[in-house]
Amino acid sequence: MSAVPPRSAKPPDPVDELDVGAVLADWLDAHRRVLVLTGAGCSTGSGIPDYRDASGAWKRSPPITWQAFTGDPLARARYWARSHVGWPVVAAARPNPAHLALAELEARGQVECLVTQNVDGLHQRAGSRRVVDLHGRIDMTVCLDCGHRVPRAAVQAMLDRLNPAWTGLDAGAAPDGDADLEGLDFGAFRPPCCPACNGLLKPDVVFFGENVPRPRVAEAQAALARADAMLVVGSSLMVYSGFRFARAAREAGLPLAILTAGVTRADALATLKLAADAVQVLPAALGLPPGPASASTGQDDRADAGPLQVNAPRSAAG
Ligand SMILES: [Zn+2]
Repeated sequence: MSAVPPRSAKPPDPVDELDVGAVLADWLDAHRRVLVLTGAGCSTGSGIPDYRDASGAWKRSPPITWQAFTGDPLARARYWARSHVGWPVVAAARPNPAHLALAELEARGQVECLVTQNVDGLHQRAGSRRVVDLHGRIDMTVCLDCGHRVPRAAVQAMLDRLNPAWTGLDAGAAPDGDADLEGLDFGAFRPPCCPACNGLLKPDVVFFGENVPRPRVAEAQAALARADAMLVVGSSLMVYSGFRFARAAREAGLPLAILTAGVTRADALATLKLAADAVQVLPAALGLPPGPASASTGQDDRADAGPLQVNAPRSAAG
């Protein structure tokens, strides 16, 4: 764990962000079939926190693993207790200017496919249609025993009924509809059961320790094969499921642009690295109204990580 850098009182410099926007605009002008890969940094501007700091290290305890969720009833109860508190944040989240800019880019015919590591569904709500939800969707649950699917909103009502004493708790929001809830007797929390078979319900998201379903990976790979460039937005690419597409893009000789405020696992592969806030830069690149700085939401520590910089390790022309 590295320390979160101190918050700067100085707002981002709008002139610099316009410059970065212009660099990205030029890059987008040169590419007509872009595979876009988005991560948590795209949703922090919507009030959904991210997992990692600017150095790529965990900001809080790592999320639950597949092994713990399926094998440890107490860990599972703790997961659902935290999700019960965290879900309303996700349910209330709205697309921000970064989501809207990517939907506009698709409307202009330049997006071959948008592959997202986010599970919040905000790209679709912003109007993106060619979306692969690589890690699934938090607004749906699936029974591990019979495959029955139950919308997460219905599960919330179930959790309210099963756990009246836990309703109305307040806690800091955490990524993926989680919440920072500690020091409680989680053994007393009753997880939801499948209404069809009484089996285990799990959010329809890919947990750590679980593989992305093969058809989903194949769909994204096929889109990459049709693309003429790849753009990463708001992802540290620390998770292999996302990193592999950046690596595959470079192996195929495609230009790779990365718009992410902190360091990423693929910085050395990038043909263009824009270390900046997507909520500011994407709208600027498309000539759309700018969004408020993510820092003003109080959710994105990375906006304060240091001076805005443009790194072009190889060629900005890529
Ligand atoms: Zn079932």
